[in-house]
Amino acid sequence: MQNPNDATGRIFDIQRFSIHDGPGIRTIVFFKGCGLRCRWCCNPESQSAATQQLTRGGRTQEVGRTVTGGEVMQEVLRDLPYYRRSGGGVTLSGGECLLQPEFARALLDLCHQNGLPTAIETAGFAPRENVERVLGGVDLVLMDIKHMSPEKHKAFCGHTNEQILENSRYIAVHAKQLIIRVPVIPGFNDTEEEIAAIAGYAARLPGVRELHLLPYHRLGQDKYTGLGRNYEMGEVPPPTQSRMSALLATAEQSGLICRIGG
Ligand code: SF4
Repeated sequence: MQNPNDATGRIFDIQRFSIHDGPGIRTIVFFKGCGLRCRWCCNPESQSAATQQLTRGGRTQEVGRTVTGGEVMQEVLRDLPYYRRSGGGVTLSGGECLLQPEFARALLDLCHQNGLPTAIETAGFAPRENVERVLGGVDLVLMDIKHMSPEKHKAFCGHTNEQILENSRYIAVHAKQLIIRVPVIPGFNDTEEEIAAIAGYAARLPGVRELHLLPYHRLGQDKYTGLGRNYEMGEVPPPTQSRMSALLATAEQSGLICRIGG
């Protein structure tokens, strides 16, 4: 069996001192490659599994590098005292970490060997066997449910949602903890009916107690230009605070603990 320190995968960033992607202070490992193409994606450089050139502020850099589990852990372990004091740990994000299941599992196992709590952020668009491989190493799953309509999901994310919903039911039964997150995107899923449908579904998943509404933002827009791509959201403004509050009240009717933000 391969030593997890020698497992290799492709990532595009490691971000230290995050407080938004799970409890406490965390290090986020951003995997490269995602099967979806959400119009609002704020990390478009995460989508292709291949390395790419990204130009920002007149500087061109290569995005994506192949690393070993041991190399990632060297970076992760620099902040051990912060994790311990804050109840934090490590979150695998992306892109989609479920598309590199062996590497993801190796990192998760290395974290556990070092006493670090683990989380993943996932859109759930991956084969079931990948989910099974990764899930055994995860303490907390933060999973997006973006829409209940297969057609609308396909129009805005590039694929229908059946596999995602099937995986959500499996994850709900088998994960230690699952929190559902909903990116709130104007013109896509920001009506009361759409949020109520997602929250109602989430409330019926066994073991799910929390739902987070994540307001759309435009922070990744310049990266589209830097990759030579169009930003398909155009001039759509982020939802207002009062709109988010109204949708929060709608989501709370499901009985889940709901909040705005991750
Ligand atoms: S699932 Fe996430 S990483 Fe993938 S395209 Fe959508 S927003 Fe981007």
